[in-house]
Amino acid sequence: VRRLPERGAYDRQTIAAILDEGLVAHLGFVSEGQPFVMPTFYARDGERVLVHGSAAGRLFRTLGSGTPMCLTVTLLDGLVLARSAFHHSMNYRSVVVLGKAVPVDDAGEKRRALDLIVERLVPGRTRDARGPNERELRATTVLALPLDESSAKMRTGPPKDDEEDYALPCWAGVLPLALAAGAIVPDPRLAPGIPPPPALTSDPRWSNG
Ligand SMILES: Cc1cc2nc3c(=O)[nH]c(=O)nc-3n(C[C@H](O)[C@H](O)[C@H](O)COP(=O)(O)OP(=O)(O)OC[C@H]3O[C@@H](n4cnc5c(N)ncnc54)[C@H](O)[C@@H]3O)c2cc1C
Repeated sequence: VRRLPERGAYDRQTIAAILDEGLVAHLGFVSEGQPFVMPTFYARDGERVLVHGSAAGRLFRTLGSGTPMCLTVTLLDGLVLARSAFHHSMNYRSVVVLGKAVPVDDAGEKRRALDLIVERLVPGRTRDARGPNERELRATTVLALPLDESSAKMRTGPPKDDEEDYALPCWAGVLPLALAAGAIVPDPRLAPGIPPPPALTSDPRWSNG
């Protein structure tokens, strides 16, 4: 991180914590001269990030062939209102990973990776839901991106105004933002008598969980 390097962090704990809190990663790559930035779900697996998708789609065919890529995860923590337009900002935690993805082809490893991805959505889900069959496994590509070249960047705290602007009669401060879960909506075709998984409503990731 060259721009505002004091906001950068490279330790694995910081990077892992941000990756484990986020749910959406943006995957950047160039295909036939055209840059793409595609949103996707992901799961951290130790020293790598797992992503999965349709084996027939361009995204996973391109990334699976070893195209250089960038994975970005962003957590938005607040809007920062300063006394000058120039110093308005956002509080955030973000991670950028650069590298090449490696296909997870071994059948056992692929099943474990997909289990991890489902567990990441809702803990305990692999116990409740049917696992993938052979056709579904073939239709799904799993890629692993090593965390070797990764960085975190964070901004916290109040606005940082120019000293002479602190006297201005202009409100300044932070509007904190957080991802919140709403009330669960049972599938209209849910068979009667099936309770929701406890993890769905007690997940500490949701501010009202
Ligand atoms: C929610 C949000 C809003 C932002 N809004 C703005 C904005 O409006 N204007 C603006 O200029 N910047 C904004 N940033 C910061 C922006 O992401 C870049 O860090 C900044 O623009 C500097 O980019 P650079 O390529 O010049 O950085 P450099 O310091 O040259 O980047 C060098 C390397 O540092 C790492 N790096 C850079 N930025 C990040 C990052 N955010 N997270 C993790 N690693 C990183 C990457 O590996 C990158 O290759 C915002 C960030 C977030 C998360």
